[in-house]
Amino acid sequence: MDLDVSLHIAGSWRQGGAGESLPILNPATGESIGRVAVATRSDLDEALAAAERGFSAWRKVSAFERGKVLRRAASLMRERTEAIARTMTREQGKPLAEARIETGVAADIIEWFAEEGRRAYGRVIPARAEGVLQIVVREPVGPVAAFTPWNFPINQAVRKISAALCTGCSVVLKGPEDTPASCAELVRAFLDAGVPPDALGLVYGDPAAISGHLIPHPVIRKITFTGSTAVGKELAALAGRHMKRATMELGGHAPAIVFDDADVDQAVRVLSANKYRNAGQVCVAPTRFLVQESVYDRFVDGFIAASKGLVVGDGLDPDTQMGPLVHGRRVEAMEAFVADAEAKGARLMTGGKRIGNRGHFFEPTVFTDVPYDARIMNEEPFGPIAAIRRFSADDEALSEANRLPYGLAAYAYTRSGARATRVGAGVEAGMVSINHHGIALPETPFGGVKESGYGSEGGSEAIEAYLTTKFVTQASA
Ligand code: NAD
Repeated sequence: MDLDVSLHIAGSWRQGGAGESLPILNPATGESIGRVAVATRSDLDEALAAAERGFSAWRKVSAFERGKVLRRAASLMRERTEAIARTMTREQGKPLAEARIETGVAADIIEWFAEEGRRAYGRVIPARAEGVLQIVVREPVGPVAAFTPWNFPINQAVRKISAALCTGCSVVLKGPEDTPASCAELVRAFLDAGVPPDALGLVYGDPAAISGHLIPHPVIRKITFTGSTAVGKELAALAGRHMKRATMELGGHAPAIVFDDADVDQAVRVLSANKYRNAGQVCVAPTRFLVQESVYDRFVDGFIAASKGLVVGDGLDPDTQMGPLVHGRRVEAMEAFVADAEAKGARLMTGGKRIGNRGHFFEPTVFTDVPYDARIMNEEPFGPIAAIRRFSADDEALSEANRLPYGLAAYAYTRSGARATRVGAGVEAGMVSINHHGIALPETPFGGVKESGYGSEGGSEAIEAYLTTKFVTQASA
């Protein structure tokens, strides 16, 4: 059945004012599987007016009641998991098992924020004078403009929507045009659960036109964006010009350091699984593998075997372990990385080519001895290419880990407590995971440093971005 994705504006699910729409393509086949409505400028203005009304009403609902509504949304996501996951796989390409996990994790995230919203505590500061009461109050920042990408159509959006709604903010979400249907199902779950229709809008269309209109608009008080560093810098600059608060969850190029005392088999197993999850289109994927000399051959052999053993195919096929890339542009990007790495003298150990000419499949690809000037060692791969290098002294690996302007995730494998401590303290990244892959739980901080952005989308830090601080001092009359 064809997907027909509408906008949600001021309580109605509807087409855009100009009747325009974009095709939704199945990345496994390249075929059109439906259409998504495109918002006009006046649609955006209606969404903004609704967000303003929605904020006035929703902020007055107690955090306790808001939490109940959010918990209902979590239950609806769980009840609807199977249908939503199939839709996600059809439009995004990831294996159905990964789509099911993403939908289930969304419910966990909503529940976390349902509780955390009740803990937006202020404080009382002891006064200098008798009869003076000094109170610090946390208030919702106001209507939020949120922009989310296609790699996790639900999970990128759910962190923003949940954090905004639990604190009493309203949201206008610009969802991902490549994968709009599963994201729309998330919005539907919140609305069906009882979020006031004006408090949650959903729009699609021309990303630059929408962000260019929403960010400067006086109704919007906060911006939150997940996507590339290049676009993030543009949006952060625009937000800055209009004095809007912003959270930026941007690109990464995560180092994975494997020391000579590591459990190499465990490192191969966990790192290869996370390298190829979602066909490598994950901002926290391990991407620069730095392996110490004495375990280098064993790690490389294991990693190549894991890469060759992956079953690549349509995500709806239960045997598939890695699906296609989301669109043709990513395949072209992979081809350009491969050509550049080969030209610079890296050794192609497996993969390196697109698979067939139907859909956007690319082989799990491993390069070794990759020179520092190869593009793949400098630019976020966002696809199934692993770049492996050897190192001898620990310091070498740490300085390579910190060489790039990115600072999102970092990984290390070692049995030494001292090394683990050095990595935890010395790597410039927002998240460091040692001897396991422990990133992206609802209750733990999620975000980057340097050009990977700022702000956190997990843990108790995540609601800070949606709250303002008001100081009230009151003397007895
Ligand atoms: P892209 O930069 O065109 O788009 C990435 C996302 O940003 C999309 O969701 C898009 O709608 C949005 N976007 C682009 N321009 C925008 C604008 N002016 N205003 C608002 N939103 C805008 O790239 P792409 O080809 O779709 O993806 C490739 C790159 O995007 C990857 O290399 C990766 O760096 C980045 N990306 C990052 C994440 C992440 O989780 N951090 C997710 C998806 C894509």
